Amino acid sequence: MKQSRFAAAVSSFVLFCQTYHVKLISMTIYLDNNATTAVAPEVFEAMVPFLQQEYFNPSSMYPAAKPARAAVETARQTIAGHLGAEHPSELLFTSCATESINAAFFGAARANPNRKHVITTAVEHPAVLEVCKELQHEGYEVSYIGVDRKGNLNLGEFVRELRHDTLLAAVMHANSETGVVFPIDRLARIVKETNPEIMFFCDATQSVTKMPIHLTGNFRHVDMLAFSGHKIHAPKGTGGFYVRRGTRIRPFMLGGHQEFSRRGGTENVPYIAGLAKAFDIAAVSHDADRVRIEMLRNKLESAIVARVPYVEVNGAEAERMPNTLNLAVHCIEGEGILYQLSEFGICASSGSACTSGSLEPSHVLTAMGVPFTAKHGSVRISLSRYTTEAEIDTVIEAFPDIVARLRRLSPYWDQEKNQPRKG
Ligand code: PLP
Repeated sequence: MKQSRFAAAVSSFVLFCQTYHVKLISMTIYLDNNATTAVAPEVFEAMVPFLQQEYFNPSSMYPAAKPARAAVETARQTIAGHLGAEHPSELLFTSCATESINAAFFGAARANPNRKHVITTAVEHPAVLEVCKELQHEGYEVSYIGVDRKGNLNLGEFVRELRHDTLLAAVMHANSETGVVFPIDRLARIVKETNPEIMFFCDATQSVTKMPIHLTGNFRHVDMLAFSGHKIHAPKGTGGFYVRRGTRIRPFMLGGHQEFSRRGGTENVPYIAGLAKAFDIAAVSHDADRVRIEMLRNKLESAIVARVPYVEVNGAEAERMPNTLNLAVHCIEGEGILYQLSEFGICASSGSACTSGSLEPSHVLTAMGVPFTAKHGSVRISLSRYTTEAEIDTVIEAFPDIVARLRRLSPYWDQEKNQPRKG
């Protein structure tokens, strides 16, 4: 009772502020950590020396440049060690996951021109899907493996699509929208048992440092792996590309002889040092972070499900990243919810992409078969180690009223609220 009065008061206050264009809150509650993360203070500190006194080009021959070279090679050893790679030289530094993905696909294609078939999933990030489209333009066939309503990959279809001329199987580890995790160890083993010539690529951008990845352990059949710094509290503009020894690929970024002549371009020393620091921090804090983040996510999820009718949690029945909550709120648009959340300083995101004036529903939720009235109302909330319980409590207070208010304006809501609930 007390709570609902409080919520009603907050709601009227928000309405007043919206009506009179009063900027409500300058405080930010950042819950969009699958989009990007804050740079950790320790990461920032690790970068500073290489922005200031140790600014030299790591390829320069004079002694002053030695610390910069040492920083790059130490970072390589550190990250390769955390990932369980056999040798540090299997890890190349890039500018982002998108670059690593392009390097994997086009590098593999150029080195193996007779293999013209690629397998991927219907729910990959656009960084993979757009590259696949481009390969299709170039005459490749691409099989897009579907998922079920829970978000799990159709394993039978995956196995059936493996062919004698398949170049590459590319499967993401954790989905950026729903957090659903695919069984990479199993899929990569199936590929290698079926045809060891087929390369296995994994986009681990959302999972690296957050889920167990060991390239000589559970990921030992993975040939190539991509990740990005800015999802793990390192800065934007740095990423990693793991290429197992013996994997036949051509370099994608041509230029100087950096990165063992496999990726031209002067190494971004400060950001590489920061990236290694981010891995170090995660290695120490991962278990505790995971428990706390999952507890907060679950608290938020159960409170919203209890207080808001006609809301589904996309991916809840599959193995899921502990930090991700994807809600399908029936009969309203995700963008409306985001706008209202932003009035409380809350940053989240929706699955829709605003293209050419029309709101396209998320390709991930479409592949999962989420119904029309729900997939347009999808909201993704993603936590990090910096998320506090007070922030989650603010969302729990704000969310039900925002939904109720938007539904009062929704033409679909009047019809749906009186229907018996399915599934
Ligand atoms: N792959 C996945 C699964 C992602 O979530 C993202 C970014 O959201 C990317 C690739 C692209 O990452 P970057 O921005 O570092 O290129």
